[in-house]
Amino acid sequence: MSKVYRSSRSAEAQALSFEDVVMTGLAKDGGLFLPSEIPQLPSTFLKDWANASFQELAFNILRLYIDSKEIPDEDLKDLIARSYSTFRSEEVTPLKKIDDDLYLLELFHGPTYAFKDVALQFVGNLFEYFLIRRNAKKPADEPRDVITVVGATSGDTGSAAIYGLRGKKDVSVFILYPTGRISPIQEEQMTTVEDANVHTLSVKGTFDDCQDIVKQIFGDVEFNEKYHVGAVNSINWARILAQQTYYFYSYFQLQKTLKDTTSKIRFVVPSGNFGDILAGYYAYRMGLPVDKLIIATNENDILDRFMKSGRYEKSTEAEGAVKATYSPAMDIVISSNFERLLWYLIRDTVAKGNDEEAGKVLNSWMQQLKTTGSVVADEAVAQAARTIFASERVDNEETVSTIKQVYSTHPEKYVLDPHTSVGVTTSYRFISKDAKEDNIKYISLSTAHPAKFSEVVNKALDTIDGYSFEKDVLPAELKALSTKEKRINLIDEASLEKVKDAIKKELKY
Ligand SMILES: *Cc1c(COP(=O)(O)O)cnc(C)c1O
Repeated sequence: MSKVYRSSRSAEAQALSFEDVVMTGLAKDGGLFLPSEIPQLPSTFLKDWANASFQELAFNILRLYIDSKEIPDEDLKDLIARSYSTFRSEEVTPLKKIDDDLYLLELFHGPTYAFKDVALQFVGNLFEYFLIRRNAKKPADEPRDVITVVGATSGDTGSAAIYGLRGKKDVSVFILYPTGRISPIQEEQMTTVEDANVHTLSVKGTFDDCQDIVKQIFGDVEFNEKYHVGAVNSINWARILAQQTYYFYSYFQLQKTLKDTTSKIRFVVPSGNFGDILAGYYAYRMGLPVDKLIIATNENDILDRFMKSGRYEKSTEAEGAVKATYSPAMDIVISSNFERLLWYLIRDTVAKGNDEEAGKVLNSWMQQLKTTGSVVADEAVAQAARTIFASERVDNEETVSTIKQVYSTHPEKYVLDPHTSVGVTTSYRFISKDAKEDNIKYISLSTAHPAKFSEVVNKALDTIDGYSFEKDVLPAELKALSTKEKRINLIDEASLEKVKDAIKKELKY
């Protein structure tokens, strides 16, 4: 059977629908949803898809994962068209040449200037689509199906979720953030949205306090039954799916500009929760001719250490605690989406192609990780990862110096954001290693607009003559946010009860 889904931790045969997995988010057994069969591209796709628009490519790819009985062609096309009409670039995700070997895939042209918009604009429309359909089938005297999205943010995810869900029918969204601990632009982005279904809660505490409260809300059976709490964090399958399009789109864009069509193409991805690069892995497994997928981490380097040692383990250095770096959206202890990759690697090696066995093995690994903080992968699994993935780790100092170097040498004085800089630093390390192989081209993913991370960008560029953040970096639209009225809802204590009360008060039922 094709186009069905299962949980990564299940040892039983399963066949869940796309709608089930999108609306549920996380499986009951704690696993992530995935398609056990990765669809294969039509044999003529390199020719047939080469001149497709971003939206046409999105349709071609999504169609392979979503049964047309679940979402008919016309509806899927409409969802895609609406999701990407909010982007400032006609190409949605344009490719920018940095030098002969290196291209940047700009993923920040969506409403909140961060790569998460590419997925969350689509996810918001999907939620609304499924809810409208469910409610249309209900008798008038039955309560409507609704969803209350509750999330915590240290900056980027919150605003992308808000802009994805604003104004959506039967959807409410509550985003918790730590008072005074996110950047002014990020707070302005979240609190100036006027739609009645959008709520932000400024919680006096840390990001971890906010996340703890959200976890407790998810575990609160009574609250859940009444409000139908939903999540849009990076484990939602629809996000991984929507991110696949830009791997295809940029591949074709680059091929068109290259004279040598035998060039090998490598993607370099600044990574935290492994959601962005996992989309590239699906593209590769579908048949896109990718030479390497390169993981770029900051000092929270669990992925880089796995690639080198085959051990998947929390950092012992800081007793497993997260390090605050210059690329905060990549500050993680464990990469939640890595579990999906491990499932395929286990299934294809030690489980000898058996889905149920793969679920059993992965479940035991995840239990072990939870209790001991460490798992040693079978050598066959680590080797399988290395056939397509490579990795590098980049520290704060290099992050800053690469921003400075690219600005100083690029003809248009291109400004990188710190996350993108982690990827570009990694790209340059690879380029200098394979200097003699000049038919390798690098597409480095640019995950945020530099204006969102002014502190680090200014640290890198302030000493350069003629540099001005206002003139060189800040887009007018973001500048204008500071004059808009903010709606600040202060929760004066990191308390579950106070947050629940605030949600109840806003929802009025
Ligand atoms: C979320 C995010 C990342 C990391 O993406 P993952 O899917 O978590 O690996 C990188 N850069 C920026 C700016 C982000 O917002």
